[in-house]
Amino acid sequence: MARHRCHGPGCGLLLPDAGPAGGRPRLFCSERCRSRHRRLMQRIDRGRERREDRLQATAEERHRLRAAAFTVAREARRLAAALDAEAAEPDWRQPAGWGRPHPAGRLGAPYTRSALQLLEAAHVAVAAAVAADRAAGNGWAEIGAALGVSEDTAARRYRTPEY
Ligand SMILES: [Zn+2]
Repeated sequence: MARHRCHGPGCGLLLPDAGPAGGRPRLFCSERCRSRHRRLMQRIDRGRERREDRLQATAEERHRLRAAAFTVAREARRLAAALDAEAAEPDWRQPAGWGRPHPAGRLGAPYTRSALQLLEAAHVAVAAAVAADRAAGNGWAEIGAALGVSEDTAARRYRTPEY
């Protein structure tokens, strides 16, 4: 009959055969190995729970990032469509045809203002991307490296109550 070794982490001691009364063979050489084994199993369970939490949280953040990406796309399309529409307008209705002062109710630098809306949407997308990376388990050092700033700056800029 094969002899068993202790299941204690890193123990492996050969265990005595089951007695003539039979019964379940022992798994551990000692109470200490039994409790060490139990703690190890608990740690593995917690790791699994953490991984499941991470997958769930990342799925939610990925959904937010996707929405932010669509907003960027919408803003970009809106700007491109406005530029196309302007090209079809008569000269006097185009910014280059305004002269000075600006026509009543028109703000200066209209192209820059339009592009800034796009940038605003992109900033929201970057913040959503950082939250998604954080949820997936990335540290501030990795986020900072991707952004080209220090770990502290990245954390100060993008830390949220959740991440
Ligand atoms: Zn043992």
